[in-house]
Amino acid sequence: MPELPEITVKARQMNREITGKRIADIEAKQPKNLNMPVSQFVKTAKGKIVNNVSSKGKWIFIKLDPSYYMLINLGMNADLLYFTPNQKLPPKYQFKLTFSDKTGFTVQFQWFGYIHLVPEKELTKHKLTAKLGTSPTDEKFTLEHFQKLLANKKARIKNFLLNQKNIAGIGNVYIQDILFSAELHPNRKISTLSEKEINNLYNSIHSILSQSIQLGGLTYEKDFHGKKGKLTINEFLVGYKTGKPCPKCKTPIEKTKTGSTSSYICPKCQTL
Ligand SMILES: [Zn+2]
Repeated sequence: MPELPEITVKARQMNREITGKRIADIEAKQPKNLNMPVSQFVKTAKGKIVNNVSSKGKWIFIKLDPSYYMLINLGMNADLLYFTPNQKLPPKYQFKLTFSDKTGFTVQFQWFGYIHLVPEKELTKHKLTAKLGTSPTDEKFTLEHFQKLLANKKARIKNFLLNQKNIAGIGNVYIQDILFSAELHPNRKISTLSEKEINNLYNSIHSILSQSIQLGGLTYEKDFHGKKGKLTINEFLVGYKTGKPCPKCKTPIEKTKTGSTSSYICPKCQTL
């Protein structure tokens, strides 16, 4: 499942590759991914020019001129791939967007996902993205912002960080190493965290996610150009490493159930 690093990598590549291009045609084979009838969707998008591409959490924001956004969520997993003229297209795409220079991109969803067109002035009313918290890659995600976010909260730290309304983009893959490097048990209550622990956690979020972005994301996901990321399970500190020695103290890593999700922890470094 793509998380913030994989989506960030894709959005940055898209921004470089498709900014300034004019939408010439759209083929949508799976109407349920869209937020309006196919014909209306195509009519609205045609002729618009890509102003820039950014991301927030697990969503890609394509800003279109004049005054529209195309919002893409790849769901559990999907291939979102660039193509150039004469290039062979993937066999089973559900969505294809072609620019006036004959380049474009296809989307092939594995499960479900969204491609929505939203007028710029209604963006704050778009239910699926309006309530998203700040992404750790956003410059507004400062230590001060993080401290305020945690102030007076009663939740357990892992549940809190996974809630996309608090922070957009962290899922059950990267959370494992984030909590390990901050030496926090997933079930720690936020109210018991010291200032130093909060600072460490903030730094861990940045370092774990930016390391993955630099490596192009997980190797199980393809980027905009069809290349796989370079981050494999081998690079994880504790995530998915049951029984392997903790990188800090050599204690075997344990897999435990925390709420509705599984956690990988060092029982010695991450105590309750
Ligand atoms: Zn340890």
